[in-house]
Amino acid sequence: MRRTKILATVGPATKTPDQMIALITAGADGLRLNLAHGSTGDHQAYLRTMHVAARQAAREVAIVADVPGPKLRLGEITNDQIRLVVGDGWSFDSESAPGDGRRVRLELPSFRGAAKAGDPILLGDGSVELRVTSAGPNSIEARVVNGGIVRSRAGAYLPHARLTTGAFDASDRKRAEVALAEGIDFLALSFVRDSVDLVSARRWLDKQPDGKEVGLIAKIERAEALKSIDGILADADGIMIARGDLGIEVALEKLPLEQKDLIGRANAAGRFAIVATQVLLSMVNSPRPTRAEATDVANAVLDGADAIMLSEESTVGHFPVEAIQWLDRIARATESAFDPRRTRELVRAFPSDPTSAPERAVAAAAVTLAEAVHASVIVTPTHTGHTARLIAALRPACPVVALTRRSLVRRRLALVRGVEARPSPTQGKIMELRHQAIELARTEGLAELGPIVLTLGFPVDGRPTNLVTLLDPSEEPPAPKHS
Ligand code: PEP
Repeated sequence: MRRTKILATVGPATKTPDQMIALITAGADGLRLNLAHGSTGDHQAYLRTMHVAARQAAREVAIVADVPGPKLRLGEITNDQIRLVVGDGWSFDSESAPGDGRRVRLELPSFRGAAKAGDPILLGDGSVELRVTSAGPNSIEARVVNGGIVRSRAGAYLPHARLTTGAFDASDRKRAEVALAEGIDFLALSFVRDSVDLVSARRWLDKQPDGKEVGLIAKIERAEALKSIDGILADADGIMIARGDLGIEVALEKLPLEQKDLIGRANAAGRFAIVATQVLLSMVNSPRPTRAEATDVANAVLDGADAIMLSEESTVGHFPVEAIQWLDRIARATESAFDPRRTRELVRAFPSDPTSAPERAVAAAAVTLAEAVHASVIVTPTHTGHTARLIAALRPACPVVALTRRSLVRRRLALVRGVEARPSPTQGKIMELRHQAIELARTEGLAELGPIVLTLGFPVDGRPTNLVTLLDPSEEPPAPKHS
């Protein structure tokens, strides 16, 4: 069982049910749609296809809709992309006509004071760079200093046109409404500044039909967010280390340590951490990753990341399935060397809410017992996924299987490292849960590997988890059949 999860972004290269089924079959645990691209109709079609693919693949994958946030972007470009060559002049204005070799739209609220001569303008992931030659009230003239391909609606970074607005603006809300109507498990918020952004998104979601059960992922891509990270973690279900924009906002040489710090803080807070962007970028055009990419993925696994995300590799790449297969292979090959001691120290030292102390102590007891007896699996019946998350946060050596009747909880756990969620036919009957745990270990080939640790809410399941028990599958009779 691979512990690290894979989140694949869908796009033009993966838009049919068969293409998405292939992603899931190759090992994607979640599918993400970036709502920065395409029309409302496109978003609906993608989300419907994501659900069809998950159903046909018979896997409960997390469906993530990612709203673009208040990012500065270019407008459309004729033929969807253009190659800029060093020395070319390019101007930015507010005209709605598609961009060409001469000019492009820049979605700025105002051009006044947005740039001055000599400023850099970084486009896309920052690899295309221009230098401002003159700036007026309605346009900016610039010259290309690092050339490359620029796509329609690429992000633009201008140091003097800083974002002053919070995340999740009116245009995000419109996009989110469409996504909610199609059914999503997580909403990812771009350019989050602090916990205020998350609290206001949560309030909005709670008022929407079906919004209450939707989780929030905070994309960490602003320097300001690094300063408010503990508050953000308190109000999010997980974070995405969005290295594309974060790598522009903070000095690139500082990005590796920021990533490690963010993963550690998320682990400590019991939130999942997704490492995103340029993970296997060379696989857009190649069936094999580079050595450096394989090492980057392995390091994220060793640092304790919950999930690794693909973007261009699966949206426009030629080898989306192979990219997932490589992530799967690298994660499996690396996980056995993961040392949970640092993560556990962080989790134990984390100043948590005292009301959750009993559940945290029970989770710690389950992991201690599992390791003392070399358990094959920890089985944890769960109503909200909370206990499973607390156990998984301690990164036990054996897999954690969460049993729940609620499919949305199973999908919400799909991005949590080390957790496999399975449907539970029973609720509240402890003996049946014991039998189910044993059946599960038998059918998954785990029963011979060691005893089972089972957590329960005693005297009836549904109580907060308060009991940890040990099952020896070889001594138990077969489970009763459910009629
Ligand atoms: C990023 O910037 O790394 C990222 C994941 O965000 P987006 O895909 O929305 O640009």
